[in-house]
Amino acid sequence: MKNLKQLKVFLFLALIAVACNTGLNIFNYNDEVKLGAQFDKQIRRDTKEYPIYRKNPQVKNYIVNRIFNNVLSSPEIKMRKVYHYQLELIDNDKILNAFAVPGGYVYIYTGLIKYLDSEAALAGVIGHEIAHVERRHATQRITQAYGLQILASIALGNNPSQTSQIVANLLSGLTLLANSRDAEDEADEYSIKFLKNSRYYPGSVKFFFEKLRDEGKISKDRSALATFLSTHPDPIARIKTTEERLRAMHIPIKTWRSTGKGIYKKEYRQNVLNKMR
Ligand SMILES: [Zn+2]
Repeated sequence: MKNLKQLKVFLFLALIAVACNTGLNIFNYNDEVKLGAQFDKQIRRDTKEYPIYRKNPQVKNYIVNRIFNNVLSSPEIKMRKVYHYQLELIDNDKILNAFAVPGGYVYIYTGLIKYLDSEAALAGVIGHEIAHVERRHATQRITQAYGLQILASIALGNNPSQTSQIVANLLSGLTLLANSRDAEDEADEYSIKFLKNSRYYPGSVKFFFEKLRDEGKISKDRSALATFLSTHPDPIARIKTTEERLRAMHIPIKTWRSTGKGIYKKEYRQNVLNKMR
């Protein structure tokens, strides 16, 4: 009987081990919202690493009301009523990056906001970050890294403090949330889907990479981009893949230099860039 029980536990763990590599997620949606709120609290507490942008509240209001909410209104965003979607700006001009944590919390560095030059380009980034949340990339990754450990400790009746230890480790190192190549690719793909229903050009997720490429910043200037380049796949490949997707969807190819419908450069300059000087 004892052996049978051991066998059951073993089979259970083997099953979990397989499942952990196939996109299983041990977190439910409410867990994600709770986890996200914990991350958000931690981020706001760490004012040195993540100083919140407060110089001109109009800027954040404009970005939230005009751009973030417009992207968020896409019917493709299924979890809008479950997750607590919200945007925060991190006041660091040296960092060209954005990130999201489970449950709907999206953060964008002022460095990236100032580097971009159209509402569309920012909408593309926002669509990408929302996609990470909708597709549950972070908790999938946590499941892969710790799922077996968490479930094993539950199955074997070990001390629950192990679980809180794991959460503490996660909170102390947000880099653990760095997404895989596949997750990045999927987030680019979903950015197009989300923006298709917005006022913005659907392929604008590539504008940031195009500007980097055209300004020769991918090989040079690695300091500002160090975090971005070390945690993201090759930007040149991402431009190519995005254009293939746009062609397949019969969407005309525009670039970061384009103007006209769906781009909104003048509005971005007036309401964002000029107000951040
Ligand atoms: Zn990403």
